[in-house]
Amino acid sequence: MIIFFDPEAGESAVAAAEQLAARYPGITPRRFEYQGRESTFTEVHLIGSTAGVPTDVFENLEGVRRVVRVSTRYRLIGRHDNLTESWGFTYNGVRFDDRTVRLIAGLCAVDTPEYVGRTFAALADNGLVVSRMGAYKPRTSPYDFQGYGAECLPWVFELAGQHGIKVVTMEVTDARHIDEIRTALERTGHPTGVMLQVGTRNAQNFELLKQVGQQRTLPVLFKRGMGITLEESLNATEYVASEGNPNIIFCLRGVKTHLGDPHRNLVDFAHVPVLRRQTKLPVCIDPSHSVGGARGAPDGLSDIFHVTGQGIIAGATAVLVDFHPEPERALCDGPQALRLPQLPKFKAYVQRARQAYEDLVAIGS
Ligand code: PEP
Ligand code: MN
Repeated sequence: MIIFFDPEAGESAVAAAEQLAARYPGITPRRFEYQGRESTFTEVHLIGSTAGVPTDVFENLEGVRRVVRVSTRYRLIGRHDNLTESWGFTYNGVRFDDRTVRLIAGLCAVDTPEYVGRTFAALADNGLVVSRMGAYKPRTSPYDFQGYGAECLPWVFELAGQHGIKVVTMEVTDARHIDEIRTALERTGHPTGVMLQVGTRNAQNFELLKQVGQQRTLPVLFKRGMGITLEESLNATEYVASEGNPNIIFCLRGVKTHLGDPHRNLVDFAHVPVLRRQTKLPVCIDPSHSVGGARGAPDGLSDIFHVTGQGIIAGATAVLVDFHPEPERALCDGPQALRLPQLPKFKAYVQRARQAYEDLVAIGS
């Protein structure tokens, strides 16, 4: 059972509900706060068997907006029969939610300061403030380049700051990496922010998920597990939230099957509306790792553009996408990287797709 409070409900109203809840045997109240667009929302979750707990005693309390019996498994991230608002968050001055479209463009893996700097400069020229830069790279083969790790962090963060990049998404594969990132941010004076990426290979690495969830300073971009069901991925995402961090974006990146050939993965962006129905999380799509190549259709648009349009027109609001100044020289995933001169076209394409989405929503179904 979840008790939702009015944004203006004070501490005493929330505490009163918690005290009342704690009087029921076997029930433990847990408080969660998350940031809406204009205000902070408070929820108190009743943990334990709530079958014998009436809702009306809580509904009648001052400051309580609504009480919902939760039927789905995702108590925190779930949308609960459309009764709850979407989650979103503001990090380092940048808003992520289900209404603001964000391009998260950059290198799959950090390579040289020249390429990183050129990529940030191109983003800045296009008014973009969020980037992707992998420092820790789990690879299909262990003999492939694994990323420059902690040693590249200071100069990547400094370059980001110089170009006004506010958030860099970066995969972590071990709890140690979170500490390395925080240390590097501190040592460089926080020139930028970092969003921790949970990669598809770690979607069920529960120890990592707990570590990522137990800190609240850095938000999380959670990538769907490539070989597990959507429900299993969402259960894993719930782990992050249940450890205390609600600042999560869920990212579709395709699923592994040869039925997706010749794409790298089977594109799964039909799940965008499913995610928006089942969860409160902002939904991201990763067209680069889904498609895995820069080939195009006879209309002159590459498959990466096409599937991006499919995801945006279905309601996704973030796009994680690989760009590289010289894809043929990239140390990781060069074949799927778009080129920097394509950035303004990609941005325009996404804006038009979003407009089409809004127009289609207005028509209805
Ligand atoms: C990535 O985005 O850098 C990445 C490795 O993606 P995924 O975990 O989806 O394979
Ligand atoms: Mn990659």
